[in-house]
Amino acid sequence: MSERYLALVLHAPTDLRVDEREVGPIAASQVLVRVGMGGICGSDLHYFHHGGFGAIRVKEPMALGHEVAGTVSAVGAEVSKVKVGDRVAVNPSLPCGQCRFCLEGLPNQCTEMRYFGSAMRTPHVQGAFRNLLVCEAEQCERVSADTPMALASLAEPFAVGLHAVSRAGSLLGKRVLVSGCGPIGAMVIAAARLHGAAEIIATDVVDAPLKVVRAMGADKTFNVASEPDWGQAYAHDKGQIDVMIECSGNERALRSGLEVMRPRGVVVQLGLGGDVSIPQNVIVAKELLMMGSFRFHAEFALAVKLINEKRVDLAPVITRSFAMKHAVQAFELASDRQRAMKVLIDFGAEA
Ligand code: ZN
Repeated sequence: MSERYLALVLHAPTDLRVDEREVGPIAASQVLVRVGMGGICGSDLHYFHHGGFGAIRVKEPMALGHEVAGTVSAVGAEVSKVKVGDRVAVNPSLPCGQCRFCLEGLPNQCTEMRYFGSAMRTPHVQGAFRNLLVCEAEQCERVSADTPMALASLAEPFAVGLHAVSRAGSLLGKRVLVSGCGPIGAMVIAAARLHGAAEIIATDVVDAPLKVVRAMGADKTFNVASEPDWGQAYAHDKGQIDVMIECSGNERALRSGLEVMRPRGVVVQLGLGGDVSIPQNVIVAKELLMMGSFRFHAEFALAVKLINEKRVDLAPVITRSFAMKHAVQAFELASDRQRAMKVLIDFGAEA
């Protein structure tokens, strides 16, 4: 009884097809998940448009996607964490548990990391945009009965936001600047609000996402393209921003943020922009603490818990969903920042 499934497979840049594949065996530690919803991420868009980013290239057909939630439809012999019928968000990250960094408690730095829909390794780790997915039971976090699948599928980007905020340290009473208001910036804002930030200032070069992040908890928003002098209000006494979380990967965004950082402020770089030049003199003279933030680990379960308990409302980022057969249209809409934040694929919709 070999069951078959449909996957969204990238064969070449912009050549995204619905391919039929066979479900492999389910090991004792694994489960089969009938995928409900999946969110299109910026990295999926990079693969779709350019076949990769930086030095990472898609070298073989690869199913995309890593932000998914669904329903458990079969479990291996040793699985006790979830049972058939459970609704789950699937953590796309599978660290080895044995390498130096896993043993140090830094599984997001695992040297043998397997991450859904990633071409970092060859053979590539196939993605989770498919209607049936075999994964480890430990990757599943139960979703409450009244949580829509669409919200559950946001657990992964929300975990990214929670991790960035954890890297920054306490935000209690702080003035926080978030530059770049794509879905990740929006998740950072929701996380910063939850962490007790006193004031959240958000910047972008497009108006539409700024409107969304106001609904996510941003107090003030600036379109830095139409208001290039926005930083003047925060420049006095060397700078008024306690914490900056840079989500755009854009050099100008980083530079203008550094100008308004207070001495000994914290800058977390979350956006990936490749090589940029930075003003060392500002970092030295203000004694800024700069750090990166990469993926997440424990924050995934926390993200699902916070979504389950309705302690955050991530719904404003959802633009709309498409059936699998309209995936190319979904990817095109997701690429348009004027019209879209988070675009979802509905794997349960009429294929
Ligand atoms: Zn490891």
